[in-house]
Amino acid sequence: MDLHYILNHLGEDRASHRGAVAPPIYQTSNFCFTDVPGMREALADELKTPFYSRGNNPTVETLRLKLAALEGAAEALAFGSGAAAISAAVIALVGQGDHIVCVNRPYSWTRVLLRDMLPRFGVRTTFVDGTDSANFAAALTPQTRLIVVESPNSMTFEQQDLAAVAQIAKAHGALTLCDNSWASPLHQSPLALGIDLVAHSATKYLNGHSDVVAGVVCGSAELIQRIFRGPFMTLGALLSPHDAWLMIRGLRTLEVRMTRTAQTTRELAEYLSAHPKITALYLPGSASDSQRELSQSQLSGCSGLLSIRIAAEDLAAVDRFCASLKCFLLACSWGSYESLAFPVACLLNEQSYRSTSQPLPFDLIRLSVGLEPASALIADLDEALAAL
Ligand SMILES: *Cc1c(COP(=O)(O)O)cnc(C)c1O
Repeated sequence: MDLHYILNHLGEDRASHRGAVAPPIYQTSNFCFTDVPGMREALADELKTPFYSRGNNPTVETLRLKLAALEGAAEALAFGSGAAAISAAVIALVGQGDHIVCVNRPYSWTRVLLRDMLPRFGVRTTFVDGTDSANFAAALTPQTRLIVVESPNSMTFEQQDLAAVAQIAKAHGALTLCDNSWASPLHQSPLALGIDLVAHSATKYLNGHSDVVAGVVCGSAELIQRIFRGPFMTLGALLSPHDAWLMIRGLRTLEVRMTRTAQTTRELAEYLSAHPKITALYLPGSASDSQRELSQSQLSGCSGLLSIRIAAEDLAAVDRFCASLKCFLLACSWGSYESLAFPVACLLNEQSYRSTSQPLPFDLIRLSVGLEPASALIADLDEALAAL
C-alpha cells in the first residue's frame, strides 16, 4: 500500500464524518444499539465494531488500520505504552512450563518481564548473544514457545538476523516477536522476513512529538485475536481516543521526520567519528558498525538514535559534558522532534541497571537526533566535548 495513502487517508472514512479532514475524536466509553441482535453482532467481531472502548473505539481503530498497514500486517492492536504491548504479546503466547529465548540486553522492562516476573508463573527465559543466530538454535528446548528479539536494540544497537531467527523458530514450532522501535516500519519490515509479531514503542518515532506514551503489536488476524481476547482485554492497557488522535496527527509527518533525521544523523556521525574525544560510536550502517553487512541487507535506512562513548576520566567529566549541552535536552525516551541526550551515568543507582550482568559503561551517552539543523547540533556537541 502506498505510504502516503496510509498516513493521509487510510481508515479515515471522511464521508461519514461530514467531510471533516481531521478525524473526530470519539471520546466515549461505550456504544449503544437499537436492538439485541445488533449487540450480538457487534460482540461477535469487536475488533471491527465498537462496543466498549476498552476493546475498540473508532478513533483508535483508524490508528490501528494505519499501524497494521505500515507493518504489512493483517491486524494491529494499540496499547497505552510500548511496555504494555510487549507484555501483552508475550503473556498471550506462553503458559506454565514454557520456555522463551530472548536476545541479550532487550529494553529494560522487557528484561524485567522475562527475567523477574514470568518465572513466578512457571515460564523461564534464556538470554543469548543475538549477533550469532546459532545461539538461538542452541538455546532451544522442547518447551520453547517463543523467541523475543529487538533489532537493533536501544542502547548499543546490536542486531539479529531476523530471517534466520524466524527460520530457526519455525523449524522448532515456536513463534517470534520483534521489537522494531529503532528502525520504525519505514526502515525495517520484520513480518516480511518471517517474524510473527512486531511490537513498537509508539511513543518514539511513530508519534514523534513527545506528547503521548503508546504501543502497538502487529501480526496475523489469528495471533492478534489471541492477544485481544486474552491480555489486551484483561489487563486493559488501552490507548485513549485522544491519544490515538494525537498519534494519527504524529503519523502525518512520519516520512518527513524520518528522512530529515536520517540526513542529520549521518552528518553528526561523520563529525563524531572524527572527533578525538569520542572513543566509540554505535550506529547501524555507520563506518564503525561491526554488523555492517546485516545493516545493509536488513535495514533500508538510518534512524536518529545513536550512542557515543566520551573520553571522560570520571563521572564529573560526564556531568560537565551533559551540563554544557543546550540543544540536546537531558531526558530519556527518543524518536521525537527534539534532540535528546541520555547518559548511562544517570542510571548508576537504578535497581534495573545494577541488576544487569553486563552493565553499560558510565561514559556512554545515547543521543536521539531531532529536527534541528545539523550545524546547531554539531556546535552544541563541540562545546560540550570541549568542556570534558
Ligand atoms: C521505550 C521503549 C520501549 C517501551 O515503550 P514505552 O512506550 O516507553 O512503554 C520498548 N522497547 C524499546 C526498544 C524502547 O525504546
